Amino acid sequence: MAQHFLLSAASRTLSLRAIYKAGEAAAYQTFCEMRWPETNGEAVCPRCSHDATYKITTRRKFKCKACAHQFSVTSGTIFASRKMDFVDLLAAICIIVNASKGVSMIQLSRDLDCQYKTAFVLAHKLREAMAQEVQTGEVLDGHVEVDGAYFGGHVRPENAKADRKDRRLKENRSDKRRVVVALRERQGRVLPFVTRIEGEGVALVNENVDRMATLSADEASHWDLLHAGWDVERVNHSEIYSDHGKHTNMVESYFSRLRRMVVGQHHHVSPHYLHQYANHAAWLEDNRRTDNGTLAHTLVSNAMGARVSRNWKGYWQRAA
Ligand SMILES: [Zn+2]
Repeated sequence: MAQHFLLSAASRTLSLRAIYKAGEAAAYQTFCEMRWPETNGEAVCPRCSHDATYKITTRRKFKCKACAHQFSVTSGTIFASRKMDFVDLLAAICIIVNASKGVSMIQLSRDLDCQYKTAFVLAHKLREAMAQEVQTGEVLDGHVEVDGAYFGGHVRPENAKADRKDRRLKENRSDKRRVVVALRERQGRVLPFVTRIEGEGVALVNENVDRMATLSADEASHWDLLHAGWDVERVNHSEIYSDHGKHTNMVESYFSRLRRMVVGQHHHVSPHYLHQYANHAAWLEDNRRTDNGTLAHTLVSNAMGARVSRNWKGYWQRAA
């Protein structure tokens, strides 16, 4: 049997040891190179695109020779106004890409010796950077599997049987319950969405799947509508999971990863942020055969290209 990719040496191209051994200056250089790949890490003014700058080395800032604008390597990116050292930032990215089912924020804050709040916001900013690769706006084609899975809003049964409510009834359910509807190309990417009911997935397929594609779905009746637009293979999960090649196993493995992430690492996820975890799991799923050094570099590069996060900048200051 072939060796699993994650067991091979080829999957390990970056380590915390290497990051800390190389030190702060090397980490800073990495961020510069990812921010300005076209000039090999030489600063380019974000305001006027001029590439001649004065270096204010003591403060790690640059001043544009053309327009006198002062900026740093993270100005205008999701890491704007970061306080963490670059080496710790890189270590955080390494820890996050290494965790194939995500990592809890308590754990990250312990590993980095930073506040829980710092870890929480940092990880959410990185999920936004991942989402750029997931929510690309491109339609899916080839063979696409579609399915939905419920997350959050667990209603704990009462202690005594006599007090328990029928949790199948709508009025006894939590309003925090959401469905992640995921579309997955059998040969390609995962595209997740968060909705209130699985039936909304029909409209999402209409918007996001090429007309020449073929589909797979389970027996749920709302997917019947898809037959009007596509050739749809159906599989009845109450009878069989894979019926002569008709299955939705690829999208199920995405849900398996997301489920393990939510149950095993985060324990509770707010419906407000479920889309972030859904994108995170999709990104991990799409990149499951990529070595960790490449993943970390891709993530830094996305983060340097991502603009200041409106959702996460000053998150705790606003909450306070
Ligand atoms: Zn300038």
